[in-house]
Order: sequence, then structure tokens, then C-alpha cells
Amino acid sequence: MACCHYFAPSDGGDTAFSVDASAITFGPGVLSEAGDHAAALGMRRVALMTDKTLAVLPHVAIVRDSLIAAGLDVVLYDEVQVEPTDESFLAAARFASEGDFDGYVSVGGGSVIDTCKAANLYATYPADFLTYVNAPIGGGQPVPGPLKPHIACPTTCGTGSECTGIAIFDLLAMRAKTGIVSRRLRPAQGLVDPTCTETLPKNVVAASAFDVLSHALESYTALPHSQRVVAKRPSLRPLSQGANPWSDLGCREALRLLGRNMVPAVVETDGHAARHQLMWAATLAGIAFGNAGCHAPHGMSYSVSGLVRDFQPAGYPVGTPIVPHGMSVIVNAPSVFRYTAPACAGRHLEAAGWLGADLRGAGEADAGEVLANQIIAMMKATGVPNGIGGVGYGEADIEALTDGAFPQRRLFDNAPRNISKDDLAGLYRSALSYW
Ligand SMILES: [Zn+2]
Repeated sequence: MACCHYFAPSDGGDTAFSVDASAITFGPGVLSEAGDHAAALGMRRVALMTDKTLAVLPHVAIVRDSLIAAGLDVVLYDEVQVEPTDESFLAAARFASEGDFDGYVSVGGGSVIDTCKAANLYATYPADFLTYVNAPIGGGQPVPGPLKPHIACPTTCGTGSECTGIAIFDLLAMRAKTGIVSRRLRPAQGLVDPTCTETLPKNVVAASAFDVLSHALESYTALPHSQRVVAKRPSLRPLSQGANPWSDLGCREALRLLGRNMVPAVVETDGHAARHQLMWAATLAGIAFGNAGCHAPHGMSYSVSGLVRDFQPAGYPVGTPIVPHGMSVIVNAPSVFRYTAPACAGRHLEAAGWLGADLRGAGEADAGEVLANQIIAMMKATGVPNGIGGVGYGEADIEALTDGAFPQRRLFDNAPRNISKDDLAGLYRSALSYW
């Protein structure tokens, strides 16, 4: 298949790739290890970050008790906002600055872990907020040095944020999502306890599992690292370095696990074993996209979630319109993979097969259609909205969606095919509905 030559050298392209491994401890009950890991990392006074919903659930109590039992001074911050903004990042950073902490522990989904990364950053190296935010929206300045140690405890099977140096937020003034990306933001330790997934509502599992699926698919089909223009200095090689042999390993296994476990994890009432497998897939896909980077489905998702009007999915807090991250990503995915397949058809076909598609009689010319149809079948089986139309958008919104997403160059430049502004509008149009 064409993918054997995927990393062939190119003029001006990078000849090397980096392996940034995450320190992860995975298994039932590992939340109770938090105290010992924190003490081993030299923490004495800890900011324990979570959100209001999670603050009253057992996961946070287990972590807090473990920290206290290890002799640590613990101060709880439960003001993290789901789908954080620059304002909520800054509020957490103020708390962090005033608290004089020597370590951080986060318990929650991507919003909590990302907020904790940002609070650690701005408390350690104070600066104007936009200084470290991705260019061209922000200054894109490198983080000056190491941050305080951060132990991340994910409670959903989606974001993989415990494995990455990425923190995503809504920049309110622009109504657009963007982020801060640096190896320095990567948590010192991830404690991944798969039993956290057992009590999640079905819709939350579906949305977060599709986030995992798209992390793996986007990393596997990203522009190869060897075609990305080499950085000015080796130390500036980006975290989103493109597809590479290391990220491929995690993508492959994550996609196989998703193909076998995703639908049962959502639809079966006692699908605990399947949910545990999704948590492992999320960790693997997190390691993969933390080393390769996502591309267009994530780039497009930022305006799908940022411009939400009145969509309110079941299983999420009532009263606030929201397109959950995983949903805002997957509604774009079939449209994108139909478009990107010609760039690396073999990879699209392989991925479809791992997800469970029947590849008999399928050739490279069918790759985009086969992969898109497999994703669509999984969306239908798990009750996910039918494209961007299913979360409230119509033809009249395409211009605003395109304008909102197009500045996400970090992501679109990581796609295996060039995406102009007109192409992007076309991708949204093709994502309006799938069935
Ligand atoms: Zn994601």
C-alpha cells in the first residue's frame, strides 16, 4: 500500500521525528495513588482542580484523601468552566498565583486538565494572556522553562489531555477556539482509572469516544513529518510534527480497540469492559496526537462549538447551549476524510478496516467513501447528530463557520491535502447532513 512510502524524504522536509512519551499509570483504582506520586514529585502544597459537577463525586474525594494521607496541603479549586474560555483560564491562573503552590492535580475531562495546564503556566511565568497563545491569533512565544509538576486524572474516555502539551479554550473576543501548545504543558504524570467511565451518561461516552476516534484517524492521516518544512532549530520542532512511525503505533491500536468496543460501550447498559477498553484507546490516541497533531475535523470543530446557538444534548448540564467537543469534531469527519483520501488512500482504507468496515472489493479509489461510510454507520449506531445540520447549522451559516475556523492554520496545515478557504466552505457544505 502507498503508506509504506508515507515517510519518504522530501526537499526541505524534516528528516527526523521526536518521541515525547507521557508518564502514564493505567488501571482500576489508580486515583488512590495520587498522594504517593505527588509526594514523589516533590509536591507539598497542591492546587486540586476540578469543576462543580465533579467536585461532589467520589473521584475527587478519592484523590483528595490520597493527597492528604500523603501529608500534603491541599486547596480545592472547583470553578473550572466546561468548554473553558480565556476568562476562565485567567480566573484559574489568578487562583494559582495567589495560592503559592508547588504542584497541581487535576481531576476531570479535557476542560479541567487544560485549565490546570494554563493556570500552572501563567502562575509560573506571568505574561499577557496572548503571549503563549498559538500564532497568528496570539504571540506564539515559547514557554520559557519547566512548569510545576502536574498530575492529571482524566474522568472521561476522550480528550487524552493527560498525554499532551495542548490546552484549548474559547477566545471570547473572537468567538473562536484556539490553544496553547508546548511540550512544557505536558503533565508530569497521568493517572488513568478506567472505572471512572462506568457512570458516564451514554451521550457523553459517545461524544468522547468519537473524539478519540478522530484523534487517531487525524494523526494517522496527517501530513507525514517528512513533508513538513524543517524547523529553524531542532529544539523548535513542533509538537504537532505530522504523522510519524511512533504516532502510527498508537493510532493503529486505538482504531482497532474502537472498532471492537465503541458501539457496545455506548449502547450496552453493562458495557463496563468495553468502556475500560475505550479509556485505553483514549490514552493511546492521546499519545499519538500529542506527537503528530490533529488536522481538519478538529480545525473545523472550533467554530462548530464556538458559534452554537441553541443545541442542548442530553446527558450534559441543562440550560447552556453546547456542542460537546467530540460531537463538534465528528460531524465534520466524514466530509473531511472523503476529501483527504486521495492524498493517502492506503491509510484511509487501513483505518476503515480497523474500525470494522468490510474491505472486500474496495480499492484505493473507494478509500474516502469506505471510511466515511464506516464513521457514519458508527454515528447512527450511537445516536450522534447527523452532521452540522444536526447541531443547528444550515447553508446560511457556512460563511461564518468558515471565517471562524480558517485561522486554525496549525491544524489545517497538518492535513495531508491543501485546504483553501473555498475548500473549507465546501467541507462544511458536505458536512450539513449524511443520511
Ligand atoms: Zn479532540
